[in-house]
Amino acid sequence: MNMMETEVCIVGAGPGGAAAALKLSYLGTPCLLLDKATFPRDKVCGDAVSGKVTTLLGRLDPAMLRRFRQQVTNVDVWGIRFIPSNGRELKIPFQVDYDPNVDEAPGYVMRRTDFDNFLVEEVRQRKNIDFREGIEVKEYERTDKGWKISTASGQEIHCRILLIADGAYSHFSRHIAGHTKDNAHYAAALRAYYKGVTGFHKDNFIELHFLPELNPGYFWIFPLPNGGANVGLGMRSDFVQKRRLNLKTVLNEVFEKHPDIAARFANAELDGKIVGYGLPLGSKRRSLSGDHYMLLGDAGHLIDPLTGEGIGNAFYSGFIAAEQAIQCLQEERFDATYLEAYDARVDRVLRVEMRLSYQLQRIMQIQWLTNLITGFIASNPKIIELLCRMYTDFDLRKQLVRPWFWLKMWLGRRAEA
Ligand SMILES: Cc1cc2nc3c(=O)[nH]c(=O)nc-3n(C[C@H](O)[C@H](O)[C@H](O)COP(=O)(O)OP(=O)(O)OC[C@H]3O[C@@H](n4cnc5c(N)ncnc54)[C@H](O)[C@@H]3O)c2cc1C
Repeated sequence: MNMMETEVCIVGAGPGGAAAALKLSYLGTPCLLLDKATFPRDKVCGDAVSGKVTTLLGRLDPAMLRRFRQQVTNVDVWGIRFIPSNGRELKIPFQVDYDPNVDEAPGYVMRRTDFDNFLVEEVRQRKNIDFREGIEVKEYERTDKGWKISTASGQEIHCRILLIADGAYSHFSRHIAGHTKDNAHYAAALRAYYKGVTGFHKDNFIELHFLPELNPGYFWIFPLPNGGANVGLGMRSDFVQKRRLNLKTVLNEVFEKHPDIAARFANAELDGKIVGYGLPLGSKRRSLSGDHYMLLGDAGHLIDPLTGEGIGNAFYSGFIAAEQAIQCLQEERFDATYLEAYDARVDRVLRVEMRLSYQLQRIMQIQWLTNLITGFIASNPKIIELLCRMYTDFDLRKQLVRPWFWLKMWLGRRAEA
């Protein structure tokens, strides 16, 4: 049997694992990074890359951020279109008074095949990352010094600290950390690529359509280069189960019968297959660490429960896990109590936002209220500007769930009238 030893081993080279490996590398700590896939490879996703990712890439290496922005495979995104069930659209730019010819885009859409491959190409440039693709981890076993990892190809790897970033169907998360699937905190989703969809915003606003049959959840259309689009829908799994929904049937009905959407897809062509995947949502707090290990990204159930955004959160958890791993090595402490510091930092950075998103997810289940609020916002440019500022100002965003905020806005509007 082929045997090797390493201090830090990362399983999964998606955004969570790649971010952790890059952060470790830039901080001068070598690691072993394993993935069962060979890159480039697809990952079922909406492909929307938020400002969280660009912020972190820029903090790690401004040159890397420049390389990312220069990729021809991404589309610059300047805002979002919310279409509630009554169809009264709300357009919110991500930046006040933006100029696409001068400013850097606040968000992007990029096929995951390309985005993950961009990260892997960055990984390949780093001499202190031992990246091995096409290596599937099969088993984990606790040892005196850490973990023993057995791979499908018969390798045995011993490490002191294990970073688990193997995604939504993580074996370790489910069977070793004990995080069973909870349908009230999980979503099912479908994704399809299309060509020839019409009716996009001129500045590539991404679109979320809140259809009554998909509540709580939404149908999305995200623009891609050369007239392409990432299209899909997602819904909380407990509702899918309760209503015995077949999401593929729902998707086809949207294409055929929805008055506005059907017209936009009249001449569109499916590019590839319609594929499904799960989203472990962060609305239920889970433990993210234990003796000699940390869970990152989807393996730690860190997807935003309202928007379904998980790439940025996987990135954040990867960066935090890398710093924590270095501390563990310096202090020679790998026990569960010491590693609680990782959970605490992830909580500080991401948990408040996820709690807020969960509150909004529940509020938005009340369709008449969502219709009322979006209608009120759509007719009020000052509130649109405030919402626009919320994209980058998290403290401001917290106002969204406070009834007092809406009352003040409403009273202000009446006073102006
Ligand atoms: C339909 C859908 C739409 C979404 N839309 C968006 C969106 O628009 N924007 C957004 O930010 N997020 C979106 N998400 C969430 C996002 O896709 C995830 O949160 C993100 O991919 C998490 O990254 P990760 O690194 O944790 O896991 P992953 O990206 O899943 O990477 C895990 C890696 O682990 C590897 N792996 C798995 N098992 C093993 C093993 N046994 N051995 C070795 N390697 C293994 C896999 O090959 C893979 O490369 C969406 C999710 C879905 C399902």
